[in-house]
Amino acid sequence: MTIAANLAGIHERMASAAKRAGRTRGEIALMAVCKTMPAERIREAYGAGQRLFGENRVQEFAEKRPWLTGMTGAQFHLIGHLQSNKAAKAVELFHAVDSVDSLRLADKLDAAARKLGRRLPVLIEVNIGGEAAKSGLAPDDLELEELLHDAPRLEALEIRGLMTVPPYTEDPEGARPYFRRMRELRDATAKRKLPYVKMDELSMGMSHDFEVAIEEGSTCVRIGTAIFGARPQAGAEE
Ligand SMILES: *Cc1c(COP(=O)(O)O)cnc(C)c1O
Repeated sequence: MTIAANLAGIHERMASAAKRAGRTRGEIALMAVCKTMPAERIREAYGAGQRLFGENRVQEFAEKRPWLTGMTGAQFHLIGHLQSNKAAKAVELFHAVDSVDSLRLADKLDAAARKLGRRLPVLIEVNIGGEAAKSGLAPDDLELEELLHDAPRLEALEIRGLMTVPPYTEDPEGARPYFRRMRELRDATAKRKLPYVKMDELSMGMSHDFEVAIEEGSTCVRIGTAIFGARPQAGAEE
């Protein structure tokens, strides 16, 4: 299957899932997760109309970036864990950081964005399954509260919503309760109308469970394997 055919298939499945949930397809963005993929494959996806991309490592993307010029309208988001000492580099390279998982990182990103005179859209990553091996803040972590509370001070950040990677289950239905809890957390947070906190985005759903995620309210599905095929090797990032 070509990347174009894979993308077409996913668009169709997204539309069906949206319809089942009484939603419109336009509410849900498709992010192509191109980590480990060479620049030619990313260009191929771009040629097939894909514009939103996700990478999970700063260094890897820095190396690929010179081969990705001229892709007008393409946006690259960082979706992997970011060490604070790479925050400045990330702000230089990415349109947005969808994996903010600590107040310290938020501070670093804010400082780096200020320095470059730009605003950085961010999502807060929530570890909804409470897994030790995953990054993200627990829903009841005081640090999440602090981060939301500090939004007015973090002037160069635009907090736009939440992101999660739920525990892996063979059956995608296993992820449904986690997706639902994420939507409840998003809705409850939005309701508080905290200053400078937007909760429009809910980034959740991957190749094997994106339809369930859409049924539960996802506004952005992050899909790698189902677009590009299997990755060369399962990296340490997972
Ligand atoms: C790799 C990755 C994805 C995509 O995973 P697939 O199963 O290949 O679709 C989505 N989100 C994050 C955070 C990832 O690291």
